[in-house]
Order: sequence, then structure tokens, then C-alpha cells
Amino acid sequence: MSQGTLYILSAPSGAGKSSLVSALLDQTDAIKVSVSHTTRAPRPGEKDGVNYNFVSVDQFKALIADNAFLEHAEVFGNFYGTSRLWLEDQLSQGIDIILEIDWQGAQQVRKLMPETAGIFILPPSREELQKRLDNRGQDSAEIIAGRMAEAISEMSHYNEYDYVIINDDFDQALAELKAVIIAQRQKLTCQQARHGKLLTDLLSENH
Ligand code: GDP
Ligand code: ADP
Ligand code: 5GP
Repeated sequence: MSQGTLYILSAPSGAGKSSLVSALLDQTDAIKVSVSHTTRAPRPGEKDGVNYNFVSVDQFKALIADNAFLEHAEVFGNFYGTSRLWLEDQLSQGIDIILEIDWQGAQQVRKLMPETAGIFILPPSREELQKRLDNRGQDSAEIIAGRMAEAISEMSHYNEYDYVIINDDFDQALAELKAVIIAQRQKLTCQQARHGKLLTDLLSENH
């Protein structure tokens, strides 16, 4: 069976990453999102094991010591990390995986696994980003101000990714994200792994 593709999706907080991924998963087979570990407090409505695995700083440090993370980073004063075992198991079953991680984590993963597809989501303007963080209504004014202050430095890494999507109209951005996944699945190496028997039959001399 072919190895699944690892997608890295990054964006400044509030650009629409989680909403786009959630809509994409509803409409696409054989793709899952990795549930990160984090030390930040759950937002209203967030569920442990669904949005994140919520852990204490001590638990997070113990997981680092156990080499449980493929990558980990400090973002907005909290720790975030991607579980190594689950990810490797899913990819080896041929399932595509999306990592919603920041640029620091993306750099670490690219070093370990060069065959990734990186996608960066940008907002249509700074004003709109501020509006979305406000409208989401899940973070305090102080936290939102901190995330806006970090947005420019996060966005300055957009050119380290293979694809860039501007999330202005949601449905268009979703269609563009789907197009990236569909195109990636038709790449030569993916098709050779998936359709080995067909290719052998088509090219066989004695038919
Ligand atoms: P949101 O992006 O506004 O929904 O805020 P979150 O608190 O969910 O995420 C904060 C930051 O942490 C974002 O930049 C994420 O990309 C990043 N992040 C989330 N999970 C991980 C992870 O497992 N590893 C790394 N390196 N970053 C992560
Ligand atoms: P992120 O995961 O990048 O922090 P979210 O997916 O939580 O961002 O989106 C932030 C807020 O913006 C949410 O309230 C979401 O409903 C809204 N949003 C996302 N995309 C759009 C869009 N294209 N137009 C308007 N609002 C959007
Ligand atoms: P939030 O706290 O708003 O859910 O996420 C804030 C940021 O943390 C987002 O930019 C998100 O991409 C990043 N993030 C979430 N999980 C991980 C992770 O496992 N690793 C890294 N490096 N960043 C993460």
C-alpha cells in the first residue's frame, strides 16, 4: 500500500485554518487531521481528545522526554506538539494527514520528512483578521491583541510553503484547498504506488 501524504497547514491565528480543515474533512475521503497536544486552556466548547489533547506543562515535558513528539514548539506562550506514533501509523496505512501547526513546527517536520506538501492560509487583510478573531468570540481582548501582534511574524514565513491560499470568500478558499489535495493525489509517484497493477497491464507486451 502507498504511504499517505503529509500536509502541513499554517496560518496566523484567526485566518480560518481550523474552519477550512473541518469543512475539507467533511467532503474528502482518506484524510485525517492530527490532534495536537497543548498546554493552553480549552476554549469554550473545545473537547479534550477532539480539538487538542489538553495537558499540563509537566505532562508535556514528560512527553518530550519520552520522545513522543515529531515536533513541538512554543506558540503564544503555550506549548504545542505533534504525536509521532499515531502519525507514522496512519501514514503507513496510506491515509493522508493534515498537521495544523505553526511555522516553527513546519520547519522541524520538513527536515525529518522532506516529502510534505506545505499550505499557507492568508487573510484578505489585517483588518479582516482582527475582525475574525473578535467575531470568533473565544479569546480575551488581551489574547487577541497578542495574536494580532504575532500575525505579521507568522505571515512572514508564507514563502516557505508550496501553496498559498487567500481565505477571503470561504467557499472559494475551500475549493482551492480541495484542488491542492486532488492535484497532489495525481502526482506520478502517488499514482505509481496506487495503480501498480494497472500500469503493468497497460504496458505489458503479451496481452
Ligand atoms: P488558532 O490557530 O487561533 O485556532 O489557535 P490555536 O491555539 O489552536 O493554535 C495556536 C498555534 O499553535 C497555531 O499557530 C498553530 O498552528 C500552532 N499549533 C497547533 N498545534 C500545533 C502542533 O502540534 N505543533 C506546533 N508546532 N504548532 C501547533
Ligand atoms: P484559525 O483556526 O486559523 O485560528 P478559525 O477557523 O477559528 O481560524 O476562524 C476564525 C474565525 O473566522 C471563525 O469565527 C470563522 O468562523 C471565521 N472565518 C473563517 N473563514 C472565514 C471567511 N472566509 N470569511 C469570514 N469569516 C471566516
Ligand atoms: P490555538 O491556540 O488558537 O488553537 O492555536 C494557535 C496556534 O498554534 C495555531 O497557529 C496553530 O497552528 C498552532 N499549533 C496548534 N497545534 C500545534 C502543534 O501541534 N504544533 C505546532 N508547532 N503548532 C501548533
